[in-house]
Order: sequence, then C-alpha cells, then structure tokens
Amino acid sequence: MNHKSEILSSPIAYLKGVGPQRAELLQKELGVFTFNDLLNHFPFRHVDKTKITPIADVSPAEEYIQFVGILEPFQIIGERRGRRLIAQLRDKTGTVELVWFSAINMIQKMLQPGQAYIVYGKLSWFLSKPQIVHPEMETWAPEKLEGKTNLEPVYASTEKLKAKNLGGRQIGKLTKILLPHIRQQDIPENFPQKMLGDLKLMSRFEAYQQIHFPQTQQHYEAALRRLKFEEIFLAQMRMNLLRSQRHRFSKGVLFDVVGDYFNTFYNQYLPFELTGAQKRVLKEIRNDTARGRQMNRLLQGDVGSGKTIVALLCMLLAADNGYQSVLMAPTEILARQHFQGISQLLKEMDIGVALLTGSVKGKERKLILHGVSEGSIRLLIGTHAVIEDAVKFENLGLVIVDEQHRFGVAQRARLWEKNETPPHVLVMTATPIPRTLAMTAYGDLDYSVIDELPPGRQPIQTVHRFDNDRSNVMDFIKSEIALGRQVYVIFPLIEESDKLDYENLMRGYDEIKTYFPEPQYWISMVHGKQPAAQKELNMQRFVEHDTQIMVSTTVIEVGVNVPNASVMVIESAEKFGLSQLHQLRGRVGRGAEKSYCILLTGKKLGNVARERMKIMTSTNNGFVIAEKDLELRGPGDIEGTRQSGVLNFKLANIVNDRAMVDVAKKVTEEILTDDPELTKPENEALKTFLQSQKGKTVWSKIS
Ligand code: ADP
Ligand code: MG
Repeated sequence: MNHKSEILSSPIAYLKGVGPQRAELLQKELGVFTFNDLLNHFPFRHVDKTKITPIADVSPAEEYIQFVGILEPFQIIGERRGRRLIAQLRDKTGTVELVWFSAINMIQKMLQPGQAYIVYGKLSWFLSKPQIVHPEMETWAPEKLEGKTNLEPVYASTEKLKAKNLGGRQIGKLTKILLPHIRQQDIPENFPQKMLGDLKLMSRFEAYQQIHFPQTQQHYEAALRRLKFEEIFLAQMRMNLLRSQRHRFSKGVLFDVVGDYFNTFYNQYLPFELTGAQKRVLKEIRNDTARGRQMNRLLQGDVGSGKTIVALLCMLLAADNGYQSVLMAPTEILARQHFQGISQLLKEMDIGVALLTGSVKGKERKLILHGVSEGSIRLLIGTHAVIEDAVKFENLGLVIVDEQHRFGVAQRARLWEKNETPPHVLVMTATPIPRTLAMTAYGDLDYSVIDELPPGRQPIQTVHRFDNDRSNVMDFIKSEIALGRQVYVIFPLIEESDKLDYENLMRGYDEIKTYFPEPQYWISMVHGKQPAAQKELNMQRFVEHDTQIMVSTTVIEVGVNVPNASVMVIESAEKFGLSQLHQLRGRVGRGAEKSYCILLTGKKLGNVARERMKIMTSTNNGFVIAEKDLELRGPGDIEGTRQSGVLNFKLANIVNDRAMVDVAKKVTEEILTDDPELTKPENEALKTFLQSQKGKTVWSKIS
C-alpha cells in the first residue's frame, strides 16, 4: 500500500465500531494495527445471503447453507458434557435438525418456537439426516434480504475475537464501514497500463473493493486473480532487480583466461566426455566470471548428475587466472572423498591440492595454513574449517559450496573478508528446488541446472515392502552380495540426540548381524555419535570393499560415492521426507550395475506417507519429486525457504498458481529488458511502489 495515504495508516482504533478494546484484540489476534491492515485482511470465502435452500433439496455436496422455516418446540437432552439442545426447523418441504452443545441456557431463552427464522450454518450429517451445529439464527422477515449485498465476506477470526463479537462474518461489518472511506488515490495503480490491458487485470482499487464485497462471483475471481498476480509479480520484480543490480554494479575477480591447467586436464585427464548439460553449465559460469562480474550462482543437479567435475573444472579455471579456490563440503567424510577423488584426477598435474578439516591438527595443519597463505596450495578442499579466521589466502577467487543450499549470511560475510574483491560463489545442491520456488525464492541468484545424467545409467528400481517381509529382503541382499555388490541399510536418526532412534539403530544392527554373520560377512556402521576417526574408518572400510554392508544413519545422506553399492534399504521409510528419500536413494545406481532401493515401513501408514511411497516407487526424477514434495508439504516447509519472506504470500500459492508464476516471470523479464532501471514514464508507478516497499525485501540465504 502506498505509505503516503493518510487514511490507510490510521490506527484501527479510529474506525467506527472498533474502539480501544477491540483494537487491542485485533492487533494481538490478527496483527491488524491500521486501516491498511484491515483492508489486507482478505476474506477466505463469501456467503450468498440471498440464497435460501428448500430443506428437502439439501445435498451432501453443500457446505454452508441457509434455510428459512418455522422453529418447532425444542428439547434438551443428555447430561453434563453430553447435554445438548436439539430443535427442528420446518419449511414446506421438510425439516432439518439444529443442535447446540454450549451456551444452552442462553439459546434456550432466545429461541421462540412457532417463530420464523432465517438459519445459516455449516451443514453436517448425522445418521444420514442433515443438521446444523451452532447455526446463526435471525428472526425472519422477507425484507431481511432487501438491500443486502449478494456475497457477504467471511474472514479468519479467533475464539477471543468471537467472544467480542468479531467472528468471521462480523469482521465484515468493519470492512464495510472502512471501504467507503477509501478513495481511488489511496490505492493507486502500480502496474503499467499496458500490462493491465494485456493480462486483462482488474485495477488495483477495484480489486480491493471487489475482494471484500464482490458484485458477483466473477468479480470476486477477477479481484483475486489481480491481487494474487500482484504478489507473485512484485516478488519476482524485486528479485530480478536485485540480480540485475548485482550484475551491473558488483565487481568480481576476472577469470578471462582459459589456460594450461584447464586445457591440460580437459584434453588429457578428463575420464569421460562431459554431458551436454555439464558443458552448458560451464558456459553459464564462464559467462559471469570472464566478464568480471561477481558470480552468485546456484547449481542444481540431481544426485549423480556430475556436479563435482564441473566444480573441478571451475577450480582449474581459477588457477589459470592466478587465483586460489575452495571446495567446501558439509561433512568430513564428504570432504575427504572429494579430496581423494580430485587428487586422483589431478595426480599427473603439477598443482597444489590440500585437505583441511576440523580433524587436521598440529604440524599438518600449520603446513597447510602456510601453503594457503603463500599460495603454493591452489585448491583447498575441506569442511567449514576452510573459512575459519585462521585461514588466510594469498588470493582467493572462487568458493564452491557442495550440498548446502542453506549457506548462511554469516558464512557469506566471512567469505567477503577473504579477498579484497569478493570471490565468486557457486553453491551446488542435489536437493532439487522446484522450478516455481526457485523463480520466486531464489530469483536474485543466477541459476544453473544439470538436467541430464551421464550416459549408461540404469534407472534404480524402487520397491515398497512391509516390515513383515524383512526376511525376503534379507535374502535378496544376500543374493546381491553374492554377486559382489555392496549394500546400505539406513535407519532414521532425525535428531542425533534422540535416544529411541539410537536404540533402534543398535537393534537393527544386531538383527542384521544375525542374518549376516562374520566372517562370511563384514558390516560397517556409521552414526553421528561416533568420534570422527571411527566414522572415517568405517566409511573407508566400506569404500574399499572390506565390508559388504553399511548400516548407517543419514550422516551418509549426501554426496558419498561408492559405485559398487547396488542396494539401498531404508528402514522406517515413512519417517523420511521425499527429498531425503531421494537423496538416500541416490547413493546407489552410481555404477554400471542395476541398483535397487527398498523402502521398508510398518503396515499402518498415514495418507501422506503412503503417497510418498507411491511417488518414490514411480519416479527417479528429482525434480518431479521436488514438485510433489512441495505439493504435499506446502511451500512453507521446504528446506531453506522458511525464513525467506518472499513466500509469505497472503493469497497466492506457488503450487496451485504455477501458471501465474510463469506468466509473471515472462512479464517481469519483458519489462526489465525494455527498461532495466524502470525509468520510463509508463513504469514510474511501479518503481515508486517498489521503492515504498523497500525493507520488505528479504535477501536469499545464498550469496
Ligand atoms: P553429484 O552431482 O551427485 O555430485 P558426482 O559428481 O559425484 O555427482 O558424479 C557421479 C558419478 O558420475 C561420478 O562417479 C562421476 O565420475 C561420474 N560422472 C560425472 N560426469 C560424467 C560424465 N559426463 N560421463 C560419465 N560419468 C560421469
Ligand atoms: Mg556431489
């Protein structure tokens, strides 16, 4: 809302019918402080007050319903909690039961049998007879409907407000008082005229009127469409402006040379041909870095899509331009694996690579810190230890963050201090972020996707089995091990401190041991309570095929690469979210052999859990899964977006309004291509509006 409008910034207590007491409640319960807040407290549905249904015509399809009839004598039955008042309302066509469970004495006094009432409420069915529990009742006279608006708004309210006569429909009395005070100039249009016309959008002023008190259902829908679109469009506009400002004004280190390191590696040591998607992403990265703008890029690629090699090529590019780079992994295990993999790939090349984690101590650590500060180490791989204050770089040019799209503001600030010009940042994640979410929540970042798996991968076959099928599952594992393969068995340990989960893990381990006794079989176990060295040893034994089975919690969730592993068993799979299941599954299917994922659950499953199992067994595509996850959980729950204020839409929902998100994206791009700084007269209102909203922009967590 335009902050210049005086009327809209008036305290809500000044509205006729509110007063200080109700004002306080409105503030506390609904966050309504001003006229503007009330105006933006949108109704969640409307009641057609002119529609009276003959009682005989009710159908279970109807939710809220209104009858007119004569009240018959009523009775009070039951004791204490079961005490209720039951009345019948009769019209020419039939009767309907009205029931009260509370405030019985008051209702009893109020009701007058023989009198005609208009009765409104939520229809329910009891023993296949229609009834309304706690209906709203008014004595009936035909003129009651005269002059009524068709559609009366119903608002979100609370018990406390209801007690002060501010229930869902009573709030409508306030909006009704408010609206005539508001003039066109209080709600000026903020969209360019052309856009209104092209998209057939209702004007802003009218939309605010019609969303509360629509003339017709169509008017309501048009108002809703306009206001939803406004939310989505403005969010994208803000994000895009931030991004384009960064593109134009940020200074980054220049990687304009493709030199010996890159070329030698690419031509002589790259073990495979890059996929088309990998090549495209490299180009996109070059596009930023070769032009000296600071890169802030999110790289998404499904598990196994080959992000590591892209990271390595970027690091070599940095080296060619005289800069150091860092690859940061979330766990020690992963960091070590990256280090080993990359050292192996670079073994014929003369370039300094080092591993720095929390467990690198003493002399070794000193040596590494020295190498980093004088520049003999060009590629530093590690955990968060690599950005600690003690680590001083000669000239850090690139930071790659693996498997963490929640890279916090504090960490970002640390990076900035590592070099005079801020280094480029590439955040890689295998947790696919649904497209619509990426566009709205991460729109200020550049964004690349590896949407293609390396050739020759066989799809993982996923099945869902119940606990009582366990012995068959164990037999299957045996047969795979007999073929020389390895197996993961994952237990949920959501909180590492959760005692119960921990006991389950131990019990599971013992049980598996009885199926797979030593010395024929060897089992590794990894969980968060182990000291790092023990974890490491167990992991290493599995990597080197000293053990055939890895029993673990989700600490191995991300990144770990053991191509010989062909079976992933997930215990209590119902306890995991979709994205996590997909991540875990991604630990197999990394080699040439056919791989399997077995989801074990109890017999009793909730609807959502059942749906998750169905999705997991029907697709291997992480992006499809991410979209489904978003549908099942709603945007508020997706990892990393909780605090991202851009998704606190009041009306729009990026799942249901996907189509709008797409249109908004297109329009945003058109406008900004034509007028990147919104200086043209037709965009002036938009610019003014966005500026008045400053401070409402929430920066993404990545940078
Ligand atoms: P993620 O994207 O999950 O991090 P990785 O980078 O670990 O995936 O790659 C998974 C596996 O695929 C690795 O063994 C890697 O060597 C291999 N790989 C990556 N790119 C290609 C490619 N273009 N062709 C063949 N194999 C590839
Ligand atoms: Mg990886």
